[in-house]
Amino acid sequence: MSNSFSEMADSQLDGGTLGQGDALTILRSSDDDLLDLVAAAARLRRKHFGNTVKVNYLVNLKSGKCPEDCSYCSQRIGSTAEILKYTWLDADEAVGQAALGIKAGASRVCLVASGRGPKDRDLDRVNDIVGRLKRDHPEVEVCACLGILQDGQAEKLKSAGVDAYNHNINTSESKYAEICTTHEYEDRVRTVEQAKCSGLSACSGLIVGMGETDEELVEAVFALRELGSDSIPVNFLMPFEGTPLEGTWLLTPAQCLRILAMVRFACPGAEIRMAGGRELHLRSLQSLALNIVNSLFLGDYLTSEGQEAKADLQMIADAGFRVLGHDEEPSEPDLDVETAGRVVIRRRGAGSAVAANT
Ligand code: SF4
Repeated sequence: MSNSFSEMADSQLDGGTLGQGDALTILRSSDDDLLDLVAAAARLRRKHFGNTVKVNYLVNLKSGKCPEDCSYCSQRIGSTAEILKYTWLDADEAVGQAALGIKAGASRVCLVASGRGPKDRDLDRVNDIVGRLKRDHPEVEVCACLGILQDGQAEKLKSAGVDAYNHNINTSESKYAEICTTHEYEDRVRTVEQAKCSGLSACSGLIVGMGETDEELVEAVFALRELGSDSIPVNFLMPFEGTPLEGTWLLTPAQCLRILAMVRFACPGAEIRMAGGRELHLRSLQSLALNIVNSLFLGDYLTSEGQEAKADLQMIADAGFRVLGHDEEPSEPDLDVETAGRVVIRRRGAGSAVAANT
């Protein structure tokens, strides 16, 4: 099998296109072949992105209280997840929160709001934030994620300086009605197309681990390829208590790597982001995943906490990558002595009266 993955990479590097059969072969490959698969995917990642990792930073402008019923979402109607709920942040707070992410290394800020889609007055609010961000940080990309767009709204965002628009298709068309009843797959596709037509960079991705079959996952990834999504966030289901998918833990770290590798083989030149849930599902394989993906969110997600931003930066440096936009050689992040470089003398377990570290 290792030869096959290597040959698949050769084919991609020669301009080939991944077929459905090969995509399924990747998803169904064995743990014995995992490192060969990662090595083959890494050749594609290196060709398109070298050793850079794009760091993105989320600002949740409006949290919870959504009238839609996406079953994976802690902000959905009927969710009893005890998340922060608030209406629009004021512009000062939004810009201040974004600045913290930029200072930590983010080259893209993602401005997100819960809800079916924005009203025109919401766009004015977001555009004001975008204008201030672009004035203070002209080098930083801004991505808006505001739900389903109406005619003309993508153009307004583009005129205000927004660079990209995120609207995930999340899963395949065949599965969509199982995860949401208040809007349709086609609504999501139309919004991505509107964003592209207005000149915004399209960001659209997935949530995996919702019980989709391998065939449905391949269908969704090939749909993203067809849509021409420039950025593909791959979220791993975080099954919040109080949502319909509570208790749904279907992924293993190795399967997460196979999924990411399949996305890389299908869309070799796309920015592939290990997104929400990476800490829960990839766990200790996150740094291995950096050989496949070239992008991540720094710090926290919309309604859940991620690992410490400093730990993310340390992981990137330890794995031999560098943060995009920071041209210097990888350097040691400024970790405090409690978390790095300190040898702790054992005072528990054998020879002591203190419980062992088990
Ligand atoms: S539309 Fe967005 S915020 Fe609302 S339930 Fe669906 S994913 Fe959550």
